[in-house]
Amino acid sequence: MAEESFDSLGLTESTLQAVRNAGYETPSPVQAGVIPKALDGYDVLGQARTGTGKTAAFVLPIIDRVDTHPSIKAPQALILVPTRELAVQVQGEAEKLSRNRNIRCVAVYGGQPINRQIEQLKHGTHMVVGTPGRILDHISRRTIDLSELQCVVLDEADRMLDIGFRPDIERILRKCPQSRQTLLLSATVPPIIDKLAERYMYEPVKMDFSAQDIAVETIEQFYFTVHPKNKFDLLKRLLQREDPHQAIVFCRTKRTTDRIFQRLQKQFKNVGSMHGDMPQRARNKMMKMFRENELRLLVATDVIGRGIDVSGVSHIINYDIPESCDDYVHRVGRTGRMGKEGVAYSFVTPDQGEELTRIEMRIDRLLKQSKIEGYDPAWIEPEAPKPEGEAPPKFSRRGQRRHKRGL
Ligand code: AMP
Repeated sequence: MAEESFDSLGLTESTLQAVRNAGYETPSPVQAGVIPKALDGYDVLGQARTGTGKTAAFVLPIIDRVDTHPSIKAPQALILVPTRELAVQVQGEAEKLSRNRNIRCVAVYGGQPINRQIEQLKHGTHMVVGTPGRILDHISRRTIDLSELQCVVLDEADRMLDIGFRPDIERILRKCPQSRQTLLLSATVPPIIDKLAERYMYEPVKMDFSAQDIAVETIEQFYFTVHPKNKFDLLKRLLQREDPHQAIVFCRTKRTTDRIFQRLQKQFKNVGSMHGDMPQRARNKMMKMFRENELRLLVATDVIGRGIDVSGVSHIINYDIPESCDDYVHRVGRTGRMGKEGVAYSFVTPDQGEELTRIEMRIDRLLKQSKIEGYDPAWIEPEAPKPEGEAPPKFSRRGQRRHKRGL
């Protein structure tokens, strides 16, 4: 099949110029599929994950049709997203793709002073991207005018429903003009999404890009069996060996994140950290520094595991393997984006064999065991026997078997 070109999607010349300025040469499958349909005015339900170029797939048709007449102050497009980070990221992509035109995009989300957002909205904007809670807040304060809306986007719809935004989303959609276009992007399409589409979309064109979504399949994935006491030592050795261009080190808790950050900072340069307890402003700053390559190592909780696009990430290190298999997929999906190469390492303690097996079942492949020359991270100096002390930690049966199998 001949490779699609942006020129054949129906975009106007000024949008094509913006695409060229952004350095995009060929449309990704989700862009080639969604853009022409959206430009034709159809509602679209697209199944696609982050990393597939889905943001530009909905942003480009929006900016292509925005009316920039100065008399229109109210937003013409509303993009709902599950997290603050994603709101900032979508805003960044919208700005990148509309730099050659005077198109404004305001991001509104919790954790940021509402007054500034009110000012920005009052000043006038073409697009608004935000989290459902904060958008509703603006609706109830009457600081956002939805009467000019031509297009509403539900981005990462499954995630928004997962975290309980369904009533908020429905309330918002009921306030939007009926004649609007609705675009829905979701990594998965469970029945609840179909129901939402049935109720709030008009004869949506359904497209599934999950088959082309090979991000996780193309990433090399390894694990280490490691004794809990050796985890930091292993991390240090691994970072020394790999010398990553950029790495995210994922931890399960804020405490571990802080602790690992403190220790890493003493040994490596350009280290940052990010978790949900940090003020939004600090989180944004960290994200920006990481995206702009000022940080090389970012220690984080799953706060940034989902949806966030940092295209230079070469390594994902699961210092703690995630509790949920979905989080594993999201974490690992931070690397290997848009066809770039990536590698992921997971630290598995001997009693976590079953958790590793669950992840392997979820991604339908076995992780390879990695080794560091002359070093066994699972081994610790045996303690001097105590007369009535506790037994040394035992491998769970599953973990032990795996360890022996050398998988
Ligand atoms: P997304 O799936 O929207 O999070 O996009 C993933 C990354 O791919 C972002 O950094 C985009 O800027 C980038 N991107 C989107 N479309 C293209 C394209 N057609 N060519 C190259 N990079 C792209």
